Order: sequence, then C-alpha cells, then structure tokens
Amino acid sequence: MRVNPQRIQNLNNLPIQKGPVIYWMNRDMRADDNWALLHAQDLALEHKQALIVVFNLVADFMGGGLRQFNFKTEGLKELENNLNKKNIPLIISYQDNQPENLLKIFTDLKAGVIVTDFCPLKICQKWITQIKKKLKVAFRQVDAHNIVPCWIASPKREFGAYTIRPKIHRLLPDFMEEFPPLKKHPAELQKTAGKIIAHKNDWPEIIKTLTSGKNAPNPLVKPVTWLKPGAASAQKTLRDFLENRLTNYDSDRNDPNKDGSSNLSPHLHYGHISAQRVALETQKYDAHIAAQESFLEELIIRRELSDNFCFYNSDYDNPAGFPDWAKKTINEHRDDPREYIYGRRELETAKTHDDLWNAAQMQMVNDGKMHGYMRMYWAKKILEWTRSPEEAQKTAIYLNDRYELDGRDPNGFTGIAWSIGGVHDRAWGEREIFGKIRFMSFGGCKSKFDVKKYIRTHLQK
Ligand code: FAD
Repeated sequence: MRVNPQRIQNLNNLPIQKGPVIYWMNRDMRADDNWALLHAQDLALEHKQALIVVFNLVADFMGGGLRQFNFKTEGLKELENNLNKKNIPLIISYQDNQPENLLKIFTDLKAGVIVTDFCPLKICQKWITQIKKKLKVAFRQVDAHNIVPCWIASPKREFGAYTIRPKIHRLLPDFMEEFPPLKKHPAELQKTAGKIIAHKNDWPEIIKTLTSGKNAPNPLVKPVTWLKPGAASAQKTLRDFLENRLTNYDSDRNDPNKDGSSNLSPHLHYGHISAQRVALETQKYDAHIAAQESFLEELIIRRELSDNFCFYNSDYDNPAGFPDWAKKTINEHRDDPREYIYGRRELETAKTHDDLWNAAQMQMVNDGKMHGYMRMYWAKKILEWTRSPEEAQKTAIYLNDRYELDGRDPNGFTGIAWSIGGVHDRAWGEREIFGKIRFMSFGGCKSKFDVKKYIRTHLQK
C-alpha cells in the first residue's frame, strides 16, 4: 500500500466486496499526486478489480457562475484525457438529485468499495452523510488536499496560526513525502467492468444540459482568459512563480500593484495541483530563504488552518463561529452610527464613495481574483458600511463566492471570518463599529502602496 494509513478514514464498517473500486472525486480534480486516487488504485490492485472515477458536476455549485463552471469543466476534460492514458474512465454524473443519482451510479457499477476525497465544507459533509446512510459497501475518505491530514493535524478547532503551526511542523516530516506515480491500470482488470471502460463523456451534451437547466450558472459572471484551467496550466503557473517571483515573494506579495504572489489559489481550490507538490517543488528552489518560508507559511499553515476552522466549526459562515471576545465586542458596537450604508447592489456594482474599494471589487468582478492584500481591506469595509455584522458576513460570502475563481473554499470562509469576526486574530484598540476587531483604513493603504495606480488599473477597464 502506497498511502500513509493516517491519511485514510473508514467512514463505515462495511467490508470491501467484489466489484470495481470507485473513486468519487469531489475536491481534488487531478490524476497525478492524488492520495485518494492512489488509495483507490491500491485497493483495486490488491482486490484485482477495475478502477473507475466518478465526478458529480453541479451547474451552479455554491453560487458560482459561468466563470467557475467553465474553469471546472475545462479542467475535467483535461482530467478525463489524463485518466484515460492510465486506462481509467471518468464518469460525469450531472443529473439533479445529487446523492440519489450518485448512489444509483455506484449501484449500477456494482461497486465493491467507494473512496472519496476530503472537504470540510457543510455541503460536502452532508453529501457524505447521505451517501453513507444508504451505502451497502465499504466507504473510505482520504485527505488528498492537505499535506498533514486535517484530523491528524489537530483533533479540535485551533485558536490561530500560533497554535496549529507547531503541530503541523512536528508532523510534516511524516507526511511531506514524494508521491508515487499513478500506474496504468491493468487492462485485464478494467475489462471486468464491461463496457464502462470505454466510457467517454459527451461534453457538448453535458454543458448544454447544465447551462440551460433551471440551475444554469450565471452567464454574466464571465470566464477569464488570464489563467487557463487544468493540471497543465497549474504546473505552468507554479514553474513561472518559482522561476520569476518566489525570491521576492516576502517583499512583493503585499503590494497590490505587483504580481508578486503565486496565483495558484484557483488551481489549488479545484485541486488541479496538490499543495504538497507545490511545497515539494518550492523546497527544491534555491530562493531567498525568508521568501521561501513566508510562502510555505501561507501555503501550508494558513491554508490548513482554514480547513481546521471549517471542519471543527459548522458556523464558519455565520457570526456564531466568531471567538467569544469578537462576538462580545461587535455586539457592543452593533448600534454604532454608520457614516455610509450600502446595499448589496451598490456594493456589487462598485458604487461606493471609496474608489480604492471600488477598484478591488472590479478587480474581482473582471479578473476573478482580487489581490490578497485588498481582500482584507475589502471585507473590513463591508463590515463598516452595512447594517450589521451578520449582513456584512453574508454579503462578503455572496460576492466572494460569486466572482472569485478560488471562492467557495474554506480559505474564503476563514478569510472573511478573520476580517469581520476576528477569527484567528487578537483584540486590537477599540473603535466605532469594529469594536476590538482589527481595523484597516484608506490612509493605511496609501502609506503602503500606490493606491492611485491600483485605482487606475482596475477602475478604468
Ligand atoms: P499566495 O500568496 O501565492 O499563497 C499561496 C497559497 O497559500 C494560496 O493559493 C492559498 O492557497 C494559500 N493562502 C495564501 N494566503 C492565505 C490566507 N490568508 N489564508 C489561507 N490560505 C492562504 N483564498 C482562497 O483560496 N479562496 C478564497 O475565496 C479566499 N477568500 C478570501 C477572502 C478574504 C476576505 C481574505 C482576507 C482572504 C481570502 N483568501 C482566499 C486567502 C488569500 O487572500 C488567497 O488565498 C490569496 O490571495 C490567493 O492568491 P495566491 O494564490 O496568489 O496566494
């Protein structure tokens, strides 16, 4: 077996039966460097069975528009080719009625065991629970997204980076290993699954059905051209970052006028590339050490802390999930007068009095990726300009998930809860509306970077 058993959880106690091994792929849409797929293949080889990947495609998943749908489907088309090279079919399930339809596919395929990847978000956990209830064969989950599996990194909700960091650093030597390659699955085993081995998805039909159905993705949220979807583009993006930008990452990443960060978040979100691969390649690079450390801090500690927050706290999307000190302070300030109050429409169309905020909003609307530094300012101003922290958080999640390519991700829920609700942060000096939540101002931005240039770039597109 090639996969560290600590990465794997048995979700029911049912035995593995005769029949194909199904990898129900959810979060990690790639063929290479995928612990869940490797585990599924190990089981298939051990039990001399066929190996099949099933993906459940939802048109408007968590409020995403055509931009996200396009990024996902194009990545899946490339994945189908990559899997086919290894003799492995990819079956796209795209009917309504998600868990029932998936269960029907598993039953029709006469599955002997189901392996899925790990995602801490409520919708994914709900599907797992629904499937688990009705499944009559073994069901396993593999954390293929985090370097240290979420449940091994910590058994509880962590207070902040300072509490999870030593735990992850202690465990990294056990998990930061090179990936074994995915093998070509033996043709004689695949034949046992009958015709399914030759399955090819009818992409034009799938796309037509999903983009014209009642849950069609919003066509106004247009696909972007600056970043190509898929695993090959993810590898190219990584190479470009390592060769050209890593060495200045610590100094450049907080300047919104510079392209100083990796731009990997959309690919990491869709699982086109594994964070572990990114970390392994980064360590090989002879870059300025402070830059390397600072990048790995974001990629590993901050990212895995987000999964921890969402996994151990189902209130990751509402103020009940804020720490007690933050709940108290925002309640004490909820009736403070607001100089500006904006509704969702004014925010969405970037019609506030603050052109720096408007520029950040338009960067997200046009490019599908707001600069990381501006995301903090953007979310904090939503707290300042809406009627309540509840409304602020809901609005920020709505906009983030609608426009960001990397939205609908634990990092988004956590970043918003950090900005608006002090999650993983500490109390700061008290002030109007924010209470003790960390404040950010236009003046602060002005002292850090050329705000006029940023406004010119993103407001005059
Ligand atoms: P890099 O600086 O190159 O970082 C590399 C990787 O590390 C990122 O791709 C990401 O996976 C991880 N990372 C970086 N910063 C953080 C962070 N603060 N927290 C957790 N992981 C981090 N990130 C998303 O992936 N999706 C979101 O929807 C999202 N929404 C956010 C909303 C707000 C209000 C805030 C404050 C932050 C949000 N972030 C989100 C976190 C962060 O801003 C982005 O991950 C980062 O800007 C992505 O750009 P990059 O890949 O070039 O980052």
